[in-house]
Amino acid sequence: QPAAGDFSFKAEVRQLLDILVHSLYTNREIFLRELVSNASDALDKLRFEQSKGAEIADPDLELAISIEADKDKKILTIADTGLGMTHDEIVANIGTIAHSGTADFVKAAAQGTEKKSLENFIGRFGVGFYSVFMVAKEVELVTRSYKPGEQAWRWTSDGLGTYRIEPVEGEVKRGTTITVHLKDDVDKYADVHTLRDIIRRHSNFVTFPILVAGERANTVQALWREPKFEVKPEQYAEFYKFLTHDIDDPLDTLHTSVDAPVQFSALLFVPQKNYDVPGMGLERKGLDLYVRRVLIQKDNKDILPEYLSFLRGVVDSEDLPLNISRETLQENVLLRKISQTLVKQVYSELERLANDKDKYAEFWREHGKLFKFGYGDYLQRDKYAELVRFNSSASEDADGLVSLAEYAGRMREGQKEIYYASGPSREALQLNPHLELFRRKGLEVLYLYEPVDEFAMDALGKYKDHDLKAAEHADPAVIEALPDVEQAEKPETPAISDEEVAAFPDLLKRMKEILGERVTEVRESKRLKDSPACLVTPGEHMTASMQKIMRAMAK
Ligand code: ADP
Ligand code: MG
Repeated sequence: QPAAGDFSFKAEVRQLLDILVHSLYTNREIFLRELVSNASDALDKLRFEQSKGAEIADPDLELAISIEADKDKKILTIADTGLGMTHDEIVANIGTIAHSGTADFVKAAAQGTEKKSLENFIGRFGVGFYSVFMVAKEVELVTRSYKPGEQAWRWTSDGLGTYRIEPVEGEVKRGTTITVHLKDDVDKYADVHTLRDIIRRHSNFVTFPILVAGERANTVQALWREPKFEVKPEQYAEFYKFLTHDIDDPLDTLHTSVDAPVQFSALLFVPQKNYDVPGMGLERKGLDLYVRRVLIQKDNKDILPEYLSFLRGVVDSEDLPLNISRETLQENVLLRKISQTLVKQVYSELERLANDKDKYAEFWREHGKLFKFGYGDYLQRDKYAELVRFNSSASEDADGLVSLAEYAGRMREGQKEIYYASGPSREALQLNPHLELFRRKGLEVLYLYEPVDEFAMDALGKYKDHDLKAAEHADPAVIEALPDVEQAEKPETPAISDEEVAAFPDLLKRMKEILGERVTEVRESKRLKDSPACLVTPGEHMTASMQKIMRAMAK
Protein backbone atom coordinates (compact mmCIF):
# COMPACT_ATOMS: atom_id res chain seq x y z
CA GLN A 1 0.00 0.00 0.00
CA PRO A 2 1.56 3.33 -1.08
CA ALA A 3 2.01 5.95 1.56
CA ALA A 4 -0.62 8.39 2.73
CA GLY A 5 0.61 11.60 4.29
CA ASP A 6 1.94 15.06 3.71
CA PHE A 7 4.31 15.82 0.88
CA SER A 8 6.18 18.90 -0.31
CA PHE A 9 5.93 20.23 -3.82
CA LYS A 10 9.15 20.25 -5.76
CA ALA A 11 11.02 23.57 -5.73
CA GLU A 12 9.99 24.63 -9.24
CA VAL A 13 6.37 23.84 -8.50
CA ARG A 14 6.55 25.93 -5.33
CA GLN A 15 7.95 28.86 -7.29
CA LEU A 16 5.26 28.44 -9.88
CA LEU A 17 2.54 28.28 -7.26
CA ASP A 18 3.93 31.37 -5.63
CA ILE A 19 3.55 33.24 -8.90
CA LEU A 20 0.05 31.93 -9.51
CA VAL A 21 -1.27 32.37 -5.97
CA HIS A 22 -0.16 35.98 -5.89
CA SER A 23 -1.05 36.74 -9.47
CA LEU A 24 -3.69 39.24 -10.32
CA TYR A 25 -4.12 38.20 -13.89
CA THR A 26 -7.21 39.82 -15.27
CA ASN A 27 -7.92 36.60 -17.05
CA ARG A 28 -8.16 34.31 -14.04
CA GLU A 29 -11.14 32.52 -15.55
CA ILE A 30 -8.79 30.46 -17.68
CA PHE A 31 -8.31 28.13 -14.70
CA LEU A 32 -11.64 26.61 -15.72
CA ARG A 33 -10.46 26.03 -19.26
CA GLU A 34 -7.38 24.25 -17.87
CA LEU A 35 -9.36 21.99 -15.53
CA VAL A 36 -11.90 21.17 -18.22
CA SER A 37 -9.14 20.49 -20.71
CA ASN A 38 -7.54 18.05 -18.24
CA ALA A 39 -10.90 16.36 -17.73
CA SER A 40 -11.31 16.13 -21.49
CA ASP A 41 -7.79 14.67 -21.87
CA ALA A 42 -8.62 12.08 -19.22
CA LEU A 43 -11.79 11.14 -21.12
CA ASP A 44 -9.91 10.96 -24.42
CA LYS A 45 -7.39 8.63 -22.86
CA LEU A 46 -10.13 6.46 -21.41
CA ARG A 47 -11.87 6.24 -24.77
CA PHE A 48 -8.57 5.24 -26.33
CA GLU A 49 -8.14 2.44 -23.77
CA GLN A 50 -11.73 1.40 -24.40
CA SER A 51 -11.18 1.25 -28.14
CA LYS A 52 -8.22 -1.05 -27.58
CA GLY A 53 -10.48 -3.36 -25.60
CA ALA A 54 -8.82 -2.79 -22.20
CA GLU A 55 -10.77 -3.83 -19.12
CA ILE A 56 -12.04 -0.74 -17.32
CA ALA A 57 -13.83 -0.02 -14.05
CA ASP A 58 -17.44 1.19 -14.18
CA PRO A 59 -17.76 0.48 -17.91
CA ASP A 60 -21.29 1.86 -18.08
CA LEU A 61 -20.48 5.36 -16.85
CA GLU A 62 -21.24 8.00 -19.45
CA LEU A 63 -18.16 9.86 -20.74
CA ALA A 64 -18.90 13.38 -19.56
CA ILE A 65 -17.79 16.36 -17.49
CA SER A 66 -20.11 17.72 -14.78
CA ILE A 67 -19.73 21.08 -13.13
CA GLU A 68 -21.65 22.02 -9.99
CA ALA A 69 -21.50 25.20 -7.95
CA ASP A 70 -22.58 26.36 -4.51
CA LYS A 71 -22.64 30.13 -4.33
CA ASP A 72 -23.16 30.35 -0.59
CA LYS A 73 -20.27 28.07 0.25
CA LYS A 74 -18.15 29.51 -2.59
CA ILE A 75 -17.47 26.04 -3.88
CA LEU A 76 -17.11 24.74 -7.39
CA THR A 77 -16.70 21.10 -8.44
CA ILE A 78 -15.55 19.70 -11.74
CA ALA A 79 -16.02 15.97 -12.18
CA ASP A 80 -15.05 13.70 -15.04
CA THR A 81 -15.47 10.00 -15.73
CA GLY A 82 -12.08 9.73 -17.38
CA LEU A 83 -9.18 7.46 -16.59
CA GLY A 84 -8.47 8.81 -13.09
CA MET A 85 -5.16 8.43 -11.29
CA THR A 86 -3.48 5.92 -9.01
CA HIS A 87 -1.52 7.07 -5.96
CA ASP A 88 1.75 7.11 -7.88
CA GLU A 89 0.20 8.91 -10.80
CA ILE A 90 -1.04 11.66 -8.51
CA VAL A 91 2.43 12.11 -7.10
CA ALA A 92 4.01 12.01 -10.54
CA ASN A 93 1.54 14.27 -12.34
CA ILE A 94 0.55 16.93 -9.87
CA GLY A 95 2.87 16.49 -6.96
CA THR A 96 6.57 16.38 -6.58
CA ILE A 97 7.68 15.85 -10.12
CA ALA A 98 7.56 19.03 -12.14
CA HIS A 99 6.91 19.03 -15.84
CA SER A 100 9.77 20.13 -17.99
CA GLY A 101 7.79 23.25 -18.77
CA THR A 102 7.43 24.36 -15.16
CA ALA A 103 10.92 25.73 -14.75
CA ASP A 104 10.62 27.48 -18.11
CA PHE A 105 7.39 29.07 -17.07
CA VAL A 106 8.94 30.35 -13.88
CA LYS A 107 11.84 31.71 -15.91
CA ALA A 108 9.50 33.45 -18.34
CA ALA A 109 7.55 34.95 -15.47
CA ALA A 110 10.74 36.10 -13.76
CA GLN A 111 11.93 37.73 -16.97
CA GLY A 112 8.81 39.82 -16.80
CA THR A 113 7.39 38.42 -20.00
CA GLU A 114 4.44 40.55 -20.98
CA LYS A 115 1.43 39.78 -18.86
CA LYS A 116 -0.66 39.03 -21.89
CA SER A 117 1.69 36.43 -23.24
CA LEU A 118 2.20 34.94 -19.79
CA GLU A 119 -1.45 34.04 -19.76
CA ASN A 120 -0.94 32.49 -23.14
CA PHE A 121 2.01 30.56 -21.82
CA ILE A 122 0.10 28.99 -18.95
CA GLY A 123 -1.53 26.58 -21.36
CA ARG A 124 1.51 26.10 -23.54
CA PHE A 125 3.86 25.31 -20.69
CA GLY A 126 1.70 22.47 -19.47
CA VAL A 127 1.24 23.98 -16.03
CA GLY A 128 -2.50 24.05 -16.47
CA PHE A 129 -3.57 22.29 -13.31
CA TYR A 130 -1.80 24.69 -10.98
CA SER A 131 -3.62 27.65 -12.49
CA VAL A 132 -6.51 26.68 -10.21
CA PHE A 133 -4.57 28.35 -7.41
CA MET A 134 -5.18 31.71 -9.06
CA VAL A 135 -8.73 31.42 -7.71
CA ALA A 136 -8.60 28.76 -4.99
CA LYS A 137 -7.68 28.97 -1.34
CA GLU A 138 -7.99 25.23 -1.13
CA VAL A 139 -8.34 22.40 -3.64
CA GLU A 140 -9.49 18.85 -3.07
CA LEU A 141 -9.10 16.21 -5.75
CA VAL A 142 -10.68 12.78 -5.39
CA THR A 143 -9.78 10.24 -8.01
CA ARG A 144 -10.04 6.57 -8.86
CA SER A 145 -8.13 4.95 -11.68
CA TYR A 146 -9.95 3.13 -14.48
CA LYS A 147 -7.88 0.05 -13.72
CA PRO A 148 -10.21 -2.43 -12.00
CA GLY A 149 -9.67 -2.85 -8.26
CA GLU A 150 -7.68 0.36 -7.69
CA GLN A 151 -8.01 2.25 -4.42
CA ALA A 152 -9.51 5.78 -4.54
CA TRP A 153 -7.41 8.70 -3.24
CA ARG A 154 -7.95 12.20 -1.96
CA TRP A 155 -5.37 14.91 -2.66
CA THR A 156 -5.67 18.25 -0.89
CA SER A 157 -3.59 21.41 -0.94
CA ASP A 158 -3.77 25.12 -0.28
CA GLY A 159 -1.08 25.68 -2.89
CA LEU A 160 1.37 27.00 -0.34
CA GLY A 161 4.06 24.36 -0.46
CA THR A 162 2.63 21.05 0.67
CA TYR A 163 -0.13 18.66 -0.24
CA ARG A 164 -1.74 15.70 1.49
CA ILE A 165 -2.71 12.34 0.03
CA GLU A 166 -5.02 9.91 1.82
CA PRO A 167 -7.14 6.93 0.85
CA VAL A 168 -10.87 7.44 0.44
CA GLU A 169 -13.15 4.83 1.94
CA GLY A 170 -16.62 4.07 0.62
CA GLU A 171 -17.75 3.96 -2.98
CA VAL A 172 -16.00 6.21 -5.48
CA LYS A 173 -16.67 5.83 -9.19
CA ARG A 174 -14.01 5.90 -11.88
CA GLY A 175 -12.66 9.33 -12.71
CA THR A 176 -11.68 12.55 -11.00
CA THR A 177 -13.63 15.17 -9.04
CA ILE A 178 -11.98 18.47 -8.21
CA THR A 179 -13.49 20.67 -5.52
CA VAL A 180 -12.35 24.27 -5.59
CA HIS A 181 -12.81 26.44 -2.50
CA LEU A 182 -12.85 29.88 -4.06
CA LYS A 183 -11.04 32.92 -2.73
CA ASP A 184 -13.45 35.60 -1.49
CA ASP A 185 -12.92 38.03 -4.37
CA VAL A 186 -13.70 35.46 -7.07
CA ASP A 187 -16.93 33.94 -5.82
CA LYS A 188 -18.44 34.80 -9.21
CA TYR A 189 -16.97 31.49 -10.37
CA ALA A 190 -19.58 29.79 -8.25
CA ASP A 191 -22.28 31.38 -10.36
CA VAL A 192 -23.88 29.00 -12.84
CA HIS A 193 -24.44 31.64 -15.53
CA THR A 194 -20.88 32.84 -15.34
CA LEU A 195 -19.66 29.27 -15.57
CA ARG A 196 -21.80 28.50 -18.62
CA ASP A 197 -20.54 31.63 -20.27
CA ILE A 198 -16.88 30.74 -19.62
CA ILE A 199 -17.39 27.20 -20.86
CA ARG A 200 -18.98 28.48 -24.05
CA ARG A 201 -16.11 30.86 -24.67
CA HIS A 202 -13.20 28.61 -23.85
CA SER A 203 -14.33 25.01 -23.96
CA ASN A 204 -17.06 24.90 -26.55
CA PHE A 205 -15.33 22.30 -28.69
CA VAL A 206 -14.60 19.75 -26.01
CA THR A 207 -15.81 16.54 -27.62
CA PHE A 208 -17.59 15.33 -24.48
CA PRO A 209 -20.73 16.81 -22.98
CA ILE A 210 -20.04 19.44 -20.32
CA LEU A 211 -22.98 19.69 -17.95
CA VAL A 212 -23.21 22.81 -15.83
CA ALA A 213 -25.77 22.24 -13.06
CA GLY A 214 -27.14 19.37 -15.15
CA GLU A 215 -27.55 21.33 -18.38
CA ARG A 216 -25.30 20.92 -21.38
CA ALA A 217 -23.19 24.03 -21.94
CA ASN A 218 -21.01 23.14 -24.94
CA THR A 219 -22.05 22.29 -28.48
CA VAL A 220 -20.00 19.09 -28.91
CA GLN A 221 -19.01 19.23 -32.53
CA ALA A 222 -16.08 17.88 -34.47
CA LEU A 223 -15.73 21.02 -36.55
CA TRP A 224 -13.19 19.46 -38.90
CA ARG A 225 -15.82 16.93 -40.02
CA GLU A 226 -18.32 19.62 -41.00
CA PRO A 227 -18.65 20.62 -44.65
CA LYS A 228 -16.42 23.62 -45.25
CA PHE A 229 -19.15 25.88 -46.61
CA GLU A 230 -21.17 25.46 -43.43
CA VAL A 231 -18.46 26.66 -41.09
CA LYS A 232 -18.27 30.36 -40.30
CA PRO A 233 -14.95 32.18 -39.85
CA GLU A 234 -15.85 32.89 -36.21
CA GLN A 235 -16.25 29.17 -35.60
CA TYR A 236 -12.81 28.49 -37.02
CA ALA A 237 -11.31 31.23 -34.84
CA GLU A 238 -13.12 29.91 -31.80
CA PHE A 239 -11.93 26.39 -32.45
CA TYR A 240 -8.39 27.59 -33.03
CA LYS A 241 -8.34 29.37 -29.68
CA PHE A 242 -9.80 26.36 -27.99
CA LEU A 243 -7.13 24.15 -29.49
CA THR A 244 -4.08 26.31 -28.94
CA HIS A 245 -5.06 28.45 -25.95
CA ASP A 246 -3.96 31.37 -28.09
CA ILE A 247 -5.73 34.67 -27.51
CA ASP A 248 -5.43 35.94 -31.10
CA ASP A 249 -7.32 34.72 -34.17
CA PRO A 250 -5.35 32.51 -36.55
CA LEU A 251 -3.54 34.16 -39.44
CA ASP A 252 -4.73 31.54 -41.88
CA THR A 253 -6.95 28.45 -41.91
CA LEU A 254 -6.73 25.31 -44.03
CA HIS A 255 -9.75 23.03 -43.90
CA THR A 256 -9.65 20.05 -46.18
CA SER A 257 -11.19 16.66 -46.73
CA VAL A 258 -9.57 14.02 -48.91
CA ASP A 259 -10.94 10.64 -50.08
CA ALA A 260 -8.06 9.10 -51.98
CA PRO A 261 -5.56 7.54 -51.58
CA VAL A 262 -6.55 7.67 -47.89
CA GLN A 263 -9.65 9.24 -46.39
CA PHE A 264 -8.94 12.02 -43.95
CA SER A 265 -10.12 15.44 -42.84
CA ALA A 266 -7.76 18.08 -41.61
CA LEU A 267 -8.23 21.48 -40.05
CA LEU A 268 -4.96 23.37 -39.79
CA PHE A 269 -4.14 26.87 -38.64
CA VAL A 270 -1.24 29.26 -39.06
CA PRO A 271 -0.91 31.21 -35.79
CA GLN A 272 -0.39 34.96 -36.00
CA LYS A 273 2.54 34.79 -33.65
CA ASN A 274 5.36 32.39 -33.33
CA TYR A 275 5.57 31.63 -29.62
CA ASP A 276 8.61 29.43 -29.92
CA VAL A 277 10.85 31.99 -28.37
CA PRO A 278 14.37 30.59 -28.67
CA GLY A 279 15.88 29.56 -25.38
CA MET A 280 12.51 29.45 -23.67
CA GLY A 281 12.43 25.68 -23.86
CA LEU A 282 8.93 25.50 -25.27
CA GLU A 283 8.42 22.11 -26.73
CA ARG A 284 7.55 21.91 -30.37
CA LYS A 285 3.85 21.26 -30.84
CA GLY A 286 2.29 18.92 -33.34
CA LEU A 287 -1.08 17.96 -34.78
CA ASP A 288 -3.77 16.09 -32.90
CA LEU A 289 -4.46 12.81 -34.61
CA TYR A 290 -7.95 11.31 -34.48
CA VAL A 291 -9.20 8.04 -35.89
CA ARG A 292 -12.95 8.14 -36.46
CA ARG A 293 -13.22 11.01 -33.95
CA VAL A 294 -11.31 9.19 -31.23
CA LEU A 295 -8.20 11.09 -30.23
CA ILE A 296 -5.28 8.74 -30.79
CA GLN A 297 -2.39 11.09 -30.22
CA LYS A 298 -1.95 14.66 -29.14
CA ASP A 299 0.89 16.64 -30.68
CA ASN A 300 1.85 14.11 -33.30
CA LYS A 301 5.14 15.32 -34.76
CA ASP A 302 5.41 12.96 -37.72
CA ILE A 303 2.54 14.00 -39.93
CA LEU A 304 4.15 17.29 -40.81
CA PRO A 305 7.88 17.79 -41.27
CA GLU A 306 9.54 19.96 -38.65
CA TYR A 307 9.86 22.99 -40.91
CA LEU A 308 6.05 23.09 -41.16
CA SER A 309 5.57 22.68 -37.43
CA PHE A 310 4.31 26.24 -37.08
CA LEU A 311 0.97 24.76 -38.14
CA ARG A 312 -1.45 23.64 -35.46
CA GLY A 313 -4.60 21.63 -35.87
CA VAL A 314 -6.21 18.22 -36.15
CA VAL A 315 -6.19 15.33 -38.58
CA ASP A 316 -8.93 12.71 -38.49
CA SER A 317 -9.00 9.56 -40.62
CA GLU A 318 -11.59 6.88 -41.26
CA ASP A 319 -9.02 4.50 -42.69
CA LEU A 320 -6.50 4.11 -39.89
CA PRO A 321 -7.15 1.23 -37.48
CA LEU A 322 -8.53 2.37 -34.12
CA ASN A 323 -6.28 0.07 -32.16
CA ILE A 324 -3.14 1.43 -33.76
CA SER A 325 -0.35 1.75 -31.25
CA ARG A 326 1.43 5.04 -30.90
CA GLU A 327 4.75 3.31 -31.32
CA THR A 328 3.96 1.96 -34.77
CA LEU A 329 2.26 5.10 -36.02
CA GLN A 330 5.45 6.43 -37.48
CA GLU A 331 5.88 3.43 -39.77
CA ASN A 332 2.26 3.27 -40.81
CA VAL A 333 1.95 3.41 -44.60
CA LEU A 334 -1.46 5.08 -44.53
CA LEU A 335 -0.25 7.75 -42.19
CA ARG A 336 2.67 8.43 -44.50
CA LYS A 337 0.23 8.87 -47.40
CA ILE A 338 -1.82 11.25 -45.29
CA SER A 339 1.33 13.14 -44.51
CA GLN A 340 2.35 13.45 -48.18
CA THR A 341 -1.07 14.63 -49.26
CA LEU A 342 -1.30 17.09 -46.41
CA VAL A 343 2.11 18.60 -47.14
CA LYS A 344 1.01 19.20 -50.74
CA GLN A 345 -2.13 20.90 -49.50
CA VAL A 346 -0.15 23.07 -47.13
CA TYR A 347 2.00 24.23 -50.05
CA SER A 348 -1.08 25.06 -52.11
CA GLU A 349 -2.48 27.01 -49.19
CA LEU A 350 0.74 28.97 -48.77
CA GLU A 351 0.77 29.71 -52.51
CA ARG A 352 -2.74 31.07 -52.13
CA LEU A 353 -1.69 33.09 -49.09
CA ALA A 354 1.25 34.53 -51.04
CA ASN A 355 -1.19 36.27 -53.39
CA ASP A 356 -1.97 38.59 -50.50
CA LYS A 357 1.40 40.29 -50.19
CA ASP A 358 0.83 41.97 -46.84
CA LYS A 359 -0.57 38.91 -45.21
CA TYR A 360 2.21 36.76 -46.60
CA ALA A 361 4.77 39.22 -45.25
CA GLU A 362 3.19 38.80 -41.81
CA PHE A 363 3.40 35.07 -42.21
CA TRP A 364 6.99 35.27 -43.37
CA ARG A 365 8.11 37.47 -40.49
CA GLU A 366 6.76 35.05 -37.91
CA HIS A 367 7.30 31.67 -39.51
CA GLY A 368 9.71 32.23 -42.40
CA LYS A 369 12.72 31.39 -40.27
CA LEU A 370 11.36 27.89 -39.71
CA PHE A 371 9.89 27.42 -43.18
CA LYS A 372 13.26 28.16 -44.79
CA PHE A 373 14.54 24.87 -43.39
CA GLY A 374 12.32 23.17 -45.96
CA TYR A 375 15.12 23.42 -48.52
CA GLY A 376 15.88 19.76 -47.87
CA ASP A 377 12.39 18.62 -48.93
CA TYR A 378 13.31 17.89 -52.51
CA LEU A 379 9.83 16.67 -53.47
CA GLN A 380 8.56 20.20 -52.90
CA ARG A 381 11.61 22.01 -54.20
CA ASP A 382 9.94 23.94 -57.03
CA LYS A 383 7.09 25.11 -54.87
CA TYR A 384 9.46 25.91 -52.04
CA ALA A 385 11.45 28.14 -54.41
CA GLU A 386 8.30 30.12 -55.15
CA LEU A 387 7.55 30.62 -51.47
CA VAL A 388 10.89 31.76 -50.02
CA ARG A 389 11.48 35.47 -49.56
CA PHE A 390 14.59 37.57 -49.13
CA ASN A 391 15.51 41.13 -48.56
CA SER A 392 17.38 42.58 -51.53
CA SER A 393 19.32 45.58 -52.79
CA ALA A 394 16.13 46.56 -54.61
CA SER A 395 14.06 46.63 -51.40
CA GLU A 396 13.32 49.96 -49.82
CA ASP A 397 14.52 48.89 -46.41
CA ALA A 398 15.49 45.87 -44.33
CA ASP A 399 11.82 44.84 -44.03
CA GLY A 400 11.31 44.53 -47.77
CA LEU A 401 10.71 41.02 -49.11
CA VAL A 402 11.47 39.77 -52.60
CA SER A 403 10.52 36.47 -54.21
CA LEU A 404 12.76 34.71 -56.70
CA ALA A 405 10.04 35.19 -59.30
CA GLU A 406 10.07 38.95 -58.75
CA TYR A 407 13.83 39.01 -59.04
CA ALA A 408 13.80 36.97 -62.24
CA GLY A 409 11.08 39.16 -63.68
CA ARG A 410 13.20 42.29 -63.45
CA MET A 411 16.65 40.99 -64.35
CA ARG A 412 18.75 43.15 -66.61
CA GLU A 413 18.94 42.35 -70.27
CA GLY A 414 21.74 39.88 -70.73
CA GLN A 415 21.74 38.87 -67.05
CA LYS A 416 21.55 35.10 -66.63
CA GLU A 417 22.25 34.52 -62.96
CA ILE A 418 20.52 35.43 -59.71
CA TYR A 419 22.99 36.96 -57.28
CA TYR A 420 23.05 36.84 -53.51
CA ALA A 421 25.36 37.90 -50.74
CA SER A 422 25.47 37.10 -47.03
CA GLY A 423 26.05 39.59 -44.31
CA PRO A 424 25.08 40.49 -40.79
CA SER A 425 22.85 43.38 -41.80
CA ARG A 426 21.57 45.45 -44.67
CA GLU A 427 23.96 48.27 -43.76
CA ALA A 428 26.94 45.95 -43.89
CA LEU A 429 25.94 44.58 -47.28
CA GLN A 430 25.32 48.02 -48.71
CA LEU A 431 28.93 48.87 -47.91
CA ASN A 432 30.29 45.50 -49.02
CA PRO A 433 33.04 46.10 -51.62
CA HIS A 434 32.21 42.82 -53.37
CA LEU A 435 28.90 44.32 -54.36
CA GLU A 436 30.31 47.55 -55.75
CA LEU A 437 30.41 46.22 -59.27
CA PHE A 438 26.83 44.96 -58.95
CA ARG A 439 25.69 48.37 -57.82
CA ARG A 440 27.43 50.02 -60.75
CA LYS A 441 25.79 47.62 -63.18
CA GLY A 442 22.38 47.98 -61.55
CA LEU A 443 22.26 44.29 -60.72
CA GLU A 444 19.93 43.30 -57.92
CA VAL A 445 21.53 41.27 -55.14
CA LEU A 446 19.54 39.23 -52.64
CA TYR A 447 20.64 39.96 -49.08
CA LEU A 448 21.00 36.90 -46.87
CA TYR A 449 21.09 37.56 -43.14
CA GLU A 450 20.80 34.07 -41.69
CA PRO A 451 23.01 30.99 -42.05
CA VAL A 452 20.10 28.88 -43.28
CA ASP A 453 19.64 31.18 -46.28
CA GLU A 454 22.88 30.12 -47.84
CA PHE A 455 22.12 26.44 -47.29
CA ALA A 456 18.81 27.03 -49.02
CA MET A 457 20.51 28.72 -51.99
CA ASP A 458 22.99 25.87 -52.23
CA ALA A 459 20.26 23.25 -52.11
CA LEU A 460 18.15 25.01 -54.73
CA GLY A 461 21.07 25.70 -57.06
CA LYS A 462 18.76 27.17 -59.66
CA TYR A 463 15.55 29.09 -60.00
CA LYS A 464 13.95 28.19 -63.36
CA ASP A 465 16.87 28.59 -65.80
CA HIS A 466 18.86 30.92 -63.63
CA ASP A 467 21.76 29.78 -61.52
CA LEU A 468 21.72 31.10 -57.98
CA LYS A 469 25.16 32.55 -57.50
CA ALA A 470 27.02 34.06 -54.56
CA ALA A 471 28.06 37.52 -55.72
CA GLU A 472 31.61 36.89 -54.61
CA HIS A 473 31.82 33.91 -56.97
CA ALA A 474 30.39 35.68 -59.99
CA ASP A 475 32.68 36.01 -63.00
CA PRO A 476 33.65 39.71 -63.11
CA ALA A 477 34.13 39.53 -66.89
CA VAL A 478 30.48 38.54 -67.39
CA ILE A 479 29.32 41.40 -65.24
CA GLU A 480 31.72 43.94 -66.70
CA ALA A 481 30.29 43.12 -70.12
CA LEU A 482 26.95 44.62 -69.07
CA PRO A 483 26.62 48.37 -69.68
CA ASP A 484 26.86 50.62 -66.61
CA VAL A 485 23.60 52.08 -65.41
CA GLU A 486 23.34 55.81 -65.36
CA GLN A 487 24.18 57.20 -61.99
CA ALA A 488 24.03 60.57 -60.34
CA GLU A 489 27.18 62.62 -60.90
CA LYS A 490 29.97 61.41 -58.70
CA PRO A 491 33.25 63.18 -58.08
CA GLU A 492 35.88 61.76 -60.43
CA THR A 493 38.38 59.52 -58.76
CA PRO A 494 41.72 61.24 -59.29
CA ALA A 495 43.69 59.54 -62.03
CA ILE A 496 46.57 57.36 -60.94
CA SER A 497 49.98 58.48 -62.12
CA ASP A 498 52.37 56.22 -64.02
CA GLU A 499 54.78 56.31 -61.07
CA GLU A 500 52.10 55.08 -58.74
CA VAL A 501 51.21 52.27 -61.13
CA ALA A 502 54.88 51.32 -61.32
CA ALA A 503 54.97 51.05 -57.50
CA PHE A 504 52.08 48.55 -57.42
CA PRO A 505 54.08 45.30 -57.58
CA ASP A 506 56.21 46.36 -54.62
CA LEU A 507 53.18 47.47 -52.66
CA LEU A 508 51.43 44.13 -53.24
CA LYS A 509 54.56 42.25 -52.23
CA ARG A 510 54.86 44.27 -49.04
CA MET A 511 51.21 43.60 -48.19
CA LYS A 512 51.65 39.89 -48.69
CA GLU A 513 54.71 39.96 -46.41
CA ILE A 514 52.76 41.66 -43.67
CA LEU A 515 49.68 39.44 -44.00
CA GLY A 516 51.79 36.30 -44.38
CA GLU A 517 49.92 33.00 -44.00
CA ARG A 518 46.62 34.70 -43.47
CA VAL A 519 46.12 35.20 -47.20
CA THR A 520 47.09 33.11 -50.22
CA GLU A 521 47.66 36.06 -52.50
CA VAL A 522 47.40 39.86 -52.74
CA ARG A 523 46.56 41.08 -56.21
CA GLU A 524 45.44 44.14 -58.11
CA SER A 525 41.70 44.40 -58.74
CA LYS A 526 39.98 45.71 -61.83
CA ARG A 527 36.53 45.53 -60.36
CA LEU A 528 36.74 47.96 -57.44
CA LYS A 529 36.13 51.65 -58.00
CA ASP A 530 34.91 53.17 -54.73
CA SER A 531 36.43 50.73 -52.25
CA PRO A 532 40.19 50.39 -51.64
CA ALA A 533 40.30 46.62 -51.10
CA CYS A 534 38.22 43.51 -50.63
CA LEU A 535 38.68 39.92 -49.52
CA VAL A 536 37.96 37.14 -51.99
CA THR A 537 37.83 33.42 -51.39
CA PRO A 538 40.07 31.27 -53.56
CA GLY A 539 37.68 28.27 -53.66
CA GLU A 540 34.74 28.27 -56.02
CA HIS A 541 32.46 26.37 -53.72
CA MET A 542 32.19 28.10 -50.42
CA THR A 543 31.46 31.69 -49.69
CA ALA A 544 33.30 33.43 -46.89
CA SER A 545 30.26 33.34 -44.64
CA MET A 546 29.66 29.66 -45.33
CA GLN A 547 33.25 28.98 -44.26
CA LYS A 548 32.54 30.85 -41.06
CA ILE A 549 29.52 28.61 -40.41
CA MET A 550 31.46 25.46 -41.16
CA ARG A 551 34.24 26.55 -38.82
CA ALA A 552 31.72 27.29 -36.08
CA MET A 553 30.09 23.89 -36.55
CA ALA A 554 33.42 22.08 -36.44
CA LYS A 555 34.17 23.49 -32.97
P1 ADP B 1 -0.96 18.97 -18.90
O1 ADP B 1 -2.45 18.89 -19.02
O2 ADP B 1 -0.37 19.88 -19.91
O3 ADP B 1 -0.28 17.64 -18.83
P2 ADP B 1 -1.62 19.92 -16.30
O4 ADP B 1 -0.88 20.70 -15.26
O5 ADP B 1 -2.87 20.55 -16.78
O6 ADP B 1 -0.62 19.67 -17.47
O7 ADP B 1 -1.93 18.50 -15.73
C1 ADP B 1 -0.89 17.70 -15.19
C2 ADP B 1 -1.22 16.24 -15.24
O8 ADP B 1 -2.11 15.88 -14.19
C3 ADP B 1 -1.90 15.75 -16.49
O9 ADP B 1 -0.97 15.48 -17.51
C4 ADP B 1 -2.60 14.48 -16.01
O10 ADP B 1 -1.68 13.40 -16.03
C5 ADP B 1 -2.93 14.81 -14.59
N1 ADP B 1 -4.34 15.23 -14.48
C6 ADP B 1 -4.78 16.49 -14.28
N2 ADP B 1 -6.13 16.51 -14.23
C7 ADP B 1 -6.56 15.25 -14.42
C8 ADP B 1 -7.84 14.61 -14.49
N3 ADP B 1 -8.97 15.29 -14.38
N4 ADP B 1 -7.87 13.26 -14.68
C9 ADP B 1 -6.73 12.56 -14.79
N5 ADP B 1 -5.49 13.09 -14.76
C10 ADP B 1 -5.40 14.42 -14.56
MG1 MG C 1 -3.71 20.47 -18.81
